[in-house]
Amino acid sequence: MATVEQAQATIAVENPATGELVREVPLTADVGALVERARAVQPAWEALGYQGRARVLLRARRWLIEHAEEVVATIVSETGKTDEDARLVELAYGANALGFWARKAPKYLADEKVRTGNPFVLGRKLVVRYRPVGVVGVIGPWNYPLVNSVGDAIPALAAGNAVVVKPSEVTPLTSLLIERGLLESGLPEGLYQTAIGGPPTGEALIDAVDMVMFTGSTRTGRKVMERAARTLTPVSLELGGKDPMIVLADADVERAANAAVYYSMQNGGQTCISIERAYVEAPVYDEFVAKVAAKVAKLRQGPPAGPGSIDVGAMTFPPQLDVVARHVQQARDAGARVLTGGRERPGAGRFYEPTVLADVDHSMAAMTEETFGPTLPVMKVADADEAVRLANDSPYGLGAAVFTRDVARGEAIASRIEAGAVCVNDAALNYLALELPMGGWKESGLGVRHGAGGIRKYTRSQALLVTRFAPKREIHYFPYSARVTKLLDRGVKLFYGRGGS
Ligand code: NAD
Repeated sequence: MATVEQAQATIAVENPATGELVREVPLTADVGALVERARAVQPAWEALGYQGRARVLLRARRWLIEHAEEVVATIVSETGKTDEDARLVELAYGANALGFWARKAPKYLADEKVRTGNPFVLGRKLVVRYRPVGVVGVIGPWNYPLVNSVGDAIPALAAGNAVVVKPSEVTPLTSLLIERGLLESGLPEGLYQTAIGGPPTGEALIDAVDMVMFTGSTRTGRKVMERAARTLTPVSLELGGKDPMIVLADADVERAANAAVYYSMQNGGQTCISIERAYVEAPVYDEFVAKVAAKVAKLRQGPPAGPGSIDVGAMTFPPQLDVVARHVQQARDAGARVLTGGRERPGAGRFYEPTVLADVDHSMAAMTEETFGPTLPVMKVADADEAVRLANDSPYGLGAAVFTRDVARGEAIASRIEAGAVCVNDAALNYLALELPMGGWKESGLGVRHGAGGIRKYTRSQALLVTRFAPKREIHYFPYSARVTKLLDRGVKLFYGRGGS
């Protein structure tokens, strides 16, 4: 019994690229205590105002750059991703986000004066104001420990909240390091805390906080929403996807192929907003397939050893390797051609070879389910209409990409795709423009990150009505009288009775 308790008291963080133990971290025993602590210190943080909070966030940005090597090494060690995926994607995102929210929070959350068209309310001062919810619980996945756990805490802090971050139990080290960085940047204790643990820790966090920001699979997202319903706690959900790419016959095929290879293989294919299936118009299908197969075959894979050492890193989460292998095998059995890759990489570490599948269709899980690994399935389509139909034939609606030299047509096709973000002649790049809201449609999520909505979700809007100059008694107050009712009724009919013919 003692051994079981002992075994449960820590989480062993493993380097997926080498199989070595990185560190053991203690599980958080009492999540409620973290939230109570956060609650106690939040009012002073809110009272500090935007400028005071911005000063801390900007110092944290500097800290991040000054500690870049330590941050990159930590991310690489617990995810097995490449140096570039840690440095140019995660670290750069964090630095951008710290400055962005420090600058934009006062603009997005400024009091809004409102004018009303209702004559019965004329003369009043009407204001919408945004107040922080209090304590935000951020629950994150393993694929981007900085972008999708820490990243979501930044706007919550900028809005005046305290946060408790529960990173994935597979990748807790980055959040712990950033917690240290924020403290060293002058963030008062208790405003950013890391809760270590798996699903029970997540559930305890949901029960205790005022708002939940969740990033992870659709399956868990549903559970999170159900749990939050018990306490009527608002949730924002960023969930799974199966992002389609459409390549039209007039596209720059070389650019489309390069983009397809990068966005399907970047981060080992473990990116929510990316390219996960391609639909290519028949006239350029063979050319596209030949190009992507040749380019993917040249990608270098293995344990990362600094910048430029490899292109594609490890599979971070052990069970994900089985999902990738299953999807590829099932597609192969159903008649798909494996042009390159198609197997687990032999040797130490957890790797799946970068894989291109041709001649696939929607009977295969590789085209319809989230594979979340380094695979690029490519399907031939007759025309744009078929491509759009197939792109939309999915429960997901996260991102999408359209490649064509006719950008007006590309835009028109984009508007027919059911996804929260669509790029024309690009993919996923919208994620870097923090001014643009990013949120999934359908089963890919609820709410947005980035843009005004990406910080307002961490607030409660309060409607304020102020009556400055007023009589002792308003006309509609008690007692009711037939004469006044008739007068007001006539007013209502006069005001609303016209138009609409
Ligand atoms: P996951 O759903 O398994 O886990 C996510 C987090 O939820 C983890 O921290 C986990 O411990 C926690 N959790 C698990 N069960 C819980 C429960 N019952 N209550 C509360 N918390 C619980 O996801 P994952 O495997 O870590 O991440 C991969 C998934 O994340 C993919 O589906 C990917 O598409 C998605 N993702 C989406 C985005 C986006 O922006 N939409 C970004 C990154 C990842």
